[in-house]
Amino acid sequence: MSNDYPYAGRFGVNRVLPEQGLPRDQILAELQAMAAGEDATWESGRVSGTMYCGDHEHYAFLNEAFGLFAHVNALQRDICPSQTRFEGEILAMALDLFHSGAVAGTEPAGLVTTGGTGSISHAMLAYREHARETRGVVLPNVIKPETAHPAFDKACHLFGIELRRAPVDPVTTLVDLDFVSEHVDDNTVALVGSACNYGYGTIDPIGELGAIALERGVGLHVDACLGGFILPFGEELGYEVPPFDFRVPGVTSISADTHKYGYAFKGSSTVLFSDKALRNSQYFYLTDWSGGKYCSPGTEGSRSGGLLAATWASLVSLGREGYRRYAKEIFETAGTMKSAISSHRELSIIGQPSFLFSFTSNEFDVYHLADFMRPRGWRFNGQQYPNALHMAVTRPQTRPGVAEAFAADLAEATQYAKAENEAGHAPASGAIYGGVAGGMTAEVDELIKQVMAEMMDRQQSVPPLER
Ligand SMILES: *Cc1c(COP(=O)(O)O)cnc(C)c1O
Repeated sequence: MSNDYPYAGRFGVNRVLPEQGLPRDQILAELQAMAAGEDATWESGRVSGTMYCGDHEHYAFLNEAFGLFAHVNALQRDICPSQTRFEGEILAMALDLFHSGAVAGTEPAGLVTTGGTGSISHAMLAYREHARETRGVVLPNVIKPETAHPAFDKACHLFGIELRRAPVDPVTTLVDLDFVSEHVDDNTVALVGSACNYGYGTIDPIGELGAIALERGVGLHVDACLGGFILPFGEELGYEVPPFDFRVPGVTSISADTHKYGYAFKGSSTVLFSDKALRNSQYFYLTDWSGGKYCSPGTEGSRSGGLLAATWASLVSLGREGYRRYAKEIFETAGTMKSAISSHRELSIIGQPSFLFSFTSNEFDVYHLADFMRPRGWRFNGQQYPNALHMAVTRPQTRPGVAEAFAADLAEATQYAKAENEAGHAPASGAIYGGVAGGMTAEVDELIKQVMAEMMDRQQSVPPLER
């Protein structure tokens, strides 16, 4: 694997807490050198996803907001009522964006969490607890489309929920509704749909899932972690975005990441419920602890007030106009890139995506394209079944010339891939979420465990002593 610990030679290694603290200016100089070098990799606009905003002025502004509350513990509201304002307003704005006003008969509410995984986990826990309290369900299950994010599998794994994976149509990538219908039973607590999914950028038939959910008396969670803060603006701009929010009957919760297209810092997301009772079902409290009565609204205990302040600042500084403007640029850039792909008969876009798309080839292994484009700074996410490359268009791609460079490099890469294929060569790139290269074999679980262990060991042993 590439050198994940490149700084040892340059800055030395801290193996123990230094006896004397280092000078602040020396520390800051090291940090600045590392940040500048690492920022250069995505500032080219050639990296899929990851840096949703990529605007250093916006980051500087968020840093200022963060800095004012970085030291504050958002758990202790008596000392910091500001956090109640930030969290309350973040949730109010998100609920409004997803048309919570369309909900009748129940009172919508939400939670700010630390990320998409946190939002999905809190929703799954809420469904489990609510179904236990109201329906006596003790062996809960959830049905997700195969394409829905692994965070659902993780949450179900952690909370002892059975996860049923519904197949998707290989052409449209949308969930098989018959499978969903047939697999709902008395222990089903929720269905899942994505708007949009991570892999293909396609939106599940939320209306139809909502109809099943209503008919069978179960919840429907819409995962808008990725699309939540961009699709509503795409809809306003006239792009075809099927309704996926609280306007759709049957939708009972939505996850939407402020740390993606909300352009806030990593570590913030929202989960919105159509009914406060769902949110309230998953609180944790311990009233008979010798340390006092303890309660926390989510899985986190202490958390930094900086993140709430910065997330709030991102939302109110951009406003609807700012989000709409960025969405327009992103949708247009995605359109240009998709046209470049469609201009090659060897390549095809999978399903009907919007700002994020995935493409494959019937003629050659599409990873040959990644092999060719990687040295030019392009970093796609690799997918499997079928092998495909995925590009989540973000603001860095909307810079002048990036989409044009994509088209030009793609044309050359297509010629390269054809030649490699004819020569019978296998591509070097592989499909692991996050872009780590590796082959797909029967021993893949072991391989993944090894990759993870090596990554963690490398940071623990910092790096192994030369012997
Ligand atoms: C990113 C993402 C998630 C998980 O979010 P994290 O913030 O990485 O925990 C869930 N669903 C979709 C569709 C996503 O794109």
